[in-house]
Amino acid sequence: MAISYRSTRDQHATSFLASQAVLQGLSPDGGLFVPDHLPQLNLELMDLPKLTYQELAFKILQPFFSDYTATELQDCIAKAYGDNFTSPQITPVKFTADLAYLELFHGPTIAFKDLALQLLPHLLQLAAKKNQTALKTVILTATSGDTGKAAMAGFADVKDTQIIVFYPKDGVSEVQEKQMRSQTGANTHVVAITGNFDDAQTKVKEIFDDPDMALALQQKGYRFSSANSINIGRLFPQMVYYFYAYGQMLKAGKITAGQAVNFSVPTGNFGDILAGWYAKKLGLPIKKLLCASNENNVLTEFFASGIYDRKRPFHVTTSPSMDILVSSNLERLLFYTLDQDATKTAQLMDQLSTRGVYMLDAELITKLQTEFFADFATIDQTATEIKRVFEKEGYPLDPHTAVGSFVARQYQLKTGDLTPMIVVSTASPYKFPEAVLDALGKRQEATGTAALKQLHQVIAQPYPQTIVELFTAPLLHDLTCDPKDMKKLVLQLVK
Ligand SMILES: *Cc1c(COP(=O)(O)O)cnc(C)c1O
Repeated sequence: MAISYRSTRDQHATSFLASQAVLQGLSPDGGLFVPDHLPQLNLELMDLPKLTYQELAFKILQPFFSDYTATELQDCIAKAYGDNFTSPQITPVKFTADLAYLELFHGPTIAFKDLALQLLPHLLQLAAKKNQTALKTVILTATSGDTGKAAMAGFADVKDTQIIVFYPKDGVSEVQEKQMRSQTGANTHVVAITGNFDDAQTKVKEIFDDPDMALALQQKGYRFSSANSINIGRLFPQMVYYFYAYGQMLKAGKITAGQAVNFSVPTGNFGDILAGWYAKKLGLPIKKLLCASNENNVLTEFFASGIYDRKRPFHVTTSPSMDILVSSNLERLLFYTLDQDATKTAQLMDQLSTRGVYMLDAELITKLQTEFFADFATIDQTATEIKRVFEKEGYPLDPHTAVGSFVARQYQLKTGDLTPMIVVSTASPYKFPEAVLDALGKRQEATGTAALKQLHQVIAQPYPQTIVELFTAPLLHDLTCDPKDMKKLVLQLVK
């Protein structure tokens, strides 16, 4: 039976095709799309080491994108995971003495969001065609650094799309800003706003919800869409690398087929780790998923107590892509935990938005604790972990990965569970040179490209291609605007 999709908040379970869910991103009732059932994969664990990343992606994704033809999906996968990745394995695994690191940073923007955002534009383009929308697409994104660049890299020069990215002028690193402002592609627009990330995010949501904006855009032949991580076109492609990692563990002789593994996942919006949970439901032998947070540890508290409370101070840390207080994708896990009860899910989400807090019954949180372990690392613990692993193994971690690595070792110490552990490595250390140099005690006041050169000397690892290009790339975008002028600017940019 072909998979269709329904909303986590719709008690009538109205059915949508995969391409409709991709096109809409969010369900009209504000809920998230979930598959109506999970498929039986045509896949033996033993065969995993023999499959290429692209072959595996096709086997896993085909049932989830059931109204795409096999040829269409294969074509999307071929375009998404090719020479744009600098490793032919796409997501190689590196082994140190005590841990394995699944490297998700060999794509064009050297962070893990490329795994989803290199595929999504192709899925979206086909979805528009299948649903016979005559309208072209405008992708609007507010970014704190990583998503904006990854989305632009994915959508650059994709036919019938325009992408507009807003970032806080003083809220991203120099490397991130240069990466964004040097983005090529006539359909890409980058704008610095004189405000913080929340200002940008709030304004983008307002623009999405404004019927006058929708109408004005329609008259120009466009509709809005989002590249947000709640889109099923981003969520499900992330299952693939969990299976691929398992195959590489087998290939390296670290495990035998059927043996359980643990994954430690640096977590923000709960998309990456949720994909791991779906992989488990599809039959991948995962014992525990470790939800690793930084000082914004709302999820650590949730998994310990069942209380989700976003009314807390926001911490700016060295792992900015995890500085988040509302983890959107958690709603999908709640929906399953509540036995797919959409009414209850909607009630909890309503409490979160009106009161800033909700609570899950004790017995349900106990059930979740059998699958998840949650913990966090402070800024100091993150830095110490970077230093420890580099001094012991000569292997440099970025701060996000270091959070995952720290929590993995805490878990082993606290539980004594020595099941083979894979740390999901979400960014290259070259993306955060200042923080990595600080952790290693080697920074001499350098920032931006100067810090990159210093880090290069310290870790003696080749520059990723995108960093080489960054040194000479011309800055192509130079727009700044006040948050209150964002609407006007969007209409000017869409021609
Ligand atoms: C986005 C991001 C994360 C968090 O992933 P989620 O799916 O939002 O939980 C972790 N590390 C890096 C480098 C990221 O860019």
